[in-house]
Amino acid sequence: MDISLSCPDITDVERQAVVDVMQTPQLSLGPRVIEFEQMFTRFVGTRFAAAVNSGTSGLQLCVRAMGIGAAHEVITTPFSFIASSNCILAEGARPVFVDIDPDTWNIDPRRVAGAVTPQTRAVLPVDVFGQPAEMDPILEIARARGLRVIEDSCEALGATYKGRRAGSLGDVGVFGFYPNKQVTTGEGGMVVTNDEGLHAQIVSMRNQGRGPGGAWLAHERLGFNYRLCEINSALGIAQMRRIDEILENRRRPAEWYRERLHDERRVRMQKVHADCRISWFVMVVRLADDYTRADRDRMLQQLRDKGIGCNNYFTPIHLQPFYAEQFGHRPGDFPVCEALADRTIALPFHGKLTEREVDTVCREFRKML
Ligand SMILES: *Cc1c(COP(=O)(O)O)cnc(C)c1O
Repeated sequence: MDISLSCPDITDVERQAVVDVMQTPQLSLGPRVIEFEQMFTRFVGTRFAAAVNSGTSGLQLCVRAMGIGAAHEVITTPFSFIASSNCILAEGARPVFVDIDPDTWNIDPRRVAGAVTPQTRAVLPVDVFGQPAEMDPILEIARARGLRVIEDSCEALGATYKGRRAGSLGDVGVFGFYPNKQVTTGEGGMVVTNDEGLHAQIVSMRNQGRGPGGAWLAHERLGFNYRLCEINSALGIAQMRRIDEILENRRRPAEWYRERLHDERRVRMQKVHADCRISWFVMVVRLADDYTRADRDRMLQQLRDKGIGCNNYFTPIHLQPFYAEQFGHRPGDFPVCEALADRTIALPFHGKLTEREVDTVCREFRKML
């Protein structure tokens, strides 16, 4: 058996788009990156979009463009991919974690207000596993306390919250295009916003701090090379033309899994909030409380031995050794997050999965419970 954990949804259309761009002389700073950005403004519904070379660099530029740095704090979730916190650390600010909601697995909005200090500058919610964070209460606290909101939507392209697209809800939203995401460019990212000033700074900083005219050797501020090239952009355009199909291809296996596992009392699934339409990113299940982390790890090994791709998702960020050391975090600091993280299993999930494969995975998985 060989059922992989993830797999990009690539067709001949994408392959041809990449070949076509290779036949032009313009491999960077050309028309394709602009077209890719325009597709995003239309799809997400923001005024501006800036393509970058990864979701991580997009997040870092957001923190930087907001003037957040040393002596500042940003409130975020410990249950996420580490990039959502590293972008704060990379700019010299302090990530302040608050625990998650046990059902939605997203940052618990009820805990955010209690974490605000005079040093807080922003809240950085993550749309974990494709489900938008509960944005209204977060935006309300942010408005009341004068904080910015950076929405990490890297896992949530296509999701909605109260009918609006993930990524368009905060001051700025970020997407990532690593090959396990809904849409891939190999590596890449996109920063979307309605804030013209923020957008202008991000566009400048991704391109070596050049000004709006783009004069080649005129640099107005410290910048980076975080550009997305034409080859990646061509792939992204071809993927975005198929976005409805790509999302539908992922919705089907998600339904198959939920039909087969929703009544399994030894397993819990992420609860999708009534205000949200999830965009399926991974199929993560949580074992019941009487399983230990060692039980979970044993099950991961058993699944792999059978040729079924799987993983734990995530290790809490505050317990990553360099975070624990720098900020003095200890096991028990964020118990809801830790109890979940010890018991997660990500099962094979992608748009090419067949119903037979889902059957096989569920049968083997249930045998181990
Ligand atoms: C994938 C991801 C990112 C950033 O991804 P890149 O690999 O840098 O494109 C950021 N945050 C979360 C939650 C992610 O899942």
